[in-house]
Amino acid sequence: MRRLAEPGLFERIADAAWLGRPANRETFEVFNPATGELLAELPDMGVDETRAAIERASEAQTEWAAQTARERSDTLWRWHQLIVRHTDDLATILTAEMGKPLAEAKSEVSHAAAYLQWYAEEANRIYGETIPAPSRDRRMLVIKQPIGVVGAITPWNFPASMVARKISPALAAGCTVVLKPAEQTPLVAGAMFALAERAGFPPGVVNLIYASDGDVVGRELCSHPKVRKISFTGSTEVGRLLMRQCSDQVKKLSLELGGNAPFIVFDDADVDAAVDGAIQAKFRNAGQTCVSANRLYVQSGVHDEFARKFTERVETLSVGDGFEAGVAIGPLIDTRARAKIEAHVADAVEKGGSIRCGGRRIDGVGTFYAPTVLTGISHTMRVAQEETFGPLAPIIRFDDADQVVREANDTIYGLAAYFYASNLSRVWRVAEALEYGMVGINTGRMSSEAAPFGGMKQSGIGREGSRHGLEDYLEMKYLCMGGI
Ligand code: ADP
Repeated sequence: MRRLAEPGLFERIADAAWLGRPANRETFEVFNPATGELLAELPDMGVDETRAAIERASEAQTEWAAQTARERSDTLWRWHQLIVRHTDDLATILTAEMGKPLAEAKSEVSHAAAYLQWYAEEANRIYGETIPAPSRDRRMLVIKQPIGVVGAITPWNFPASMVARKISPALAAGCTVVLKPAEQTPLVAGAMFALAERAGFPPGVVNLIYASDGDVVGRELCSHPKVRKISFTGSTEVGRLLMRQCSDQVKKLSLELGGNAPFIVFDDADVDAAVDGAIQAKFRNAGQTCVSANRLYVQSGVHDEFARKFTERVETLSVGDGFEAGVAIGPLIDTRARAKIEAHVADAVEKGGSIRCGGRRIDGVGTFYAPTVLTGISHTMRVAQEETFGPLAPIIRFDDADQVVREANDTIYGLAAYFYASNLSRVWRVAEALEYGMVGINTGRMSSEAAPFGGMKQSGIGREGSRHGLEDYLEMKYLCMGGI
């Protein structure tokens, strides 16, 4: 592990006393995917610890909800400031456990801090409403109250911002939280929780569970009656499972699941801008984001120019350890992730696609894969049908604008879509026709704490960020006063 400005922060991550775990428990190891270095051993928590955390969260719930909005906001704000102040250390921990380039890790930590800032502000704006009553002797109103204890499960691809995205609206709303970060990347979450403790959250308001087995903790969170809501970001497969597990108690759910984002370049697009956007939308985080462009549709008139310019840019992306200067593409999270990319490339080549650049793993310790461009791709190949989650850009040539929208929508997913065009009526028509929760128009990057992030179809339920993100943690209560 690289030197941190405050090494104590790292030591705190695995501090047994802080985690309240019994002695002699099993542990699990966290590795750096670029070097294979062992970074930490953490207590491997299970049902007992999860249950205890839920109890603590439940005990803290009433008092936390009773705090004034301003008091909750102030604590969130202090947490925000601590995260900003420790950006470099948090980014270092993040790059070490996840592999992304350090500059991207810093940007992610800033994004995490931005969520805390946003919801520190939103905490003060949980308004109810009054309703004109249909009879004279009544008054009707709606108040908003926290749902209660929230069980949150986060993935490894954005290990800092996903934590902030879930916890900050929950806390602003007056909910308490039990969070289980991904087993591959629990360290930055641990460091953020250590800072939350310093920010002064009362005991039991935020609780952290480290576990190598998501299944065990997930079952407990879904079956414990004191957990009122599950908020999950991860694969569609696990999302479906959690939905089933929550059905017995009709628990509320927020799900942010997989995607299969189309990136469409029309003939009237600014090709250079589209190349820039595609680089961002495809290769940020080595393509390991749920909003990554998964399939690039390029209209015939600009296809060759786009493919040439895009490939030239991709060839300049340097692959390596995220701590090395100038590295744009870090390792993949594990060997399974790399195997999936290899399978997608093999399937495409077998069915007639050609490799313009990349198309091979990079030997060595880390799980590296060369950034790859494929052309001659058709909509039915695996690369176009499944989420690749890696640095692989398949280009599909198209002629008919209506047909491409149909193909773009021909998926079970509906998270993010992107397109480049300049004709105003086309921009409106395509934006409205795409069945996606988020559409980037002439941009390859759209995630913001100020905007509602989330998907249609099997990409999820609910929204994170913006004022809408707060609603997911609030219950609406209708009050009817009679006899007036
Ligand atoms: P990925 O395949 O990208 O790792 P997952 O959906 O498996 O995505 O993981 C996302 C998060 O869900 C992680 O925190 C992981 O530990 C957790 N998880 C995995 N399986 C389960 C499960 N059966 N129940 C609850 N959480 C799970």
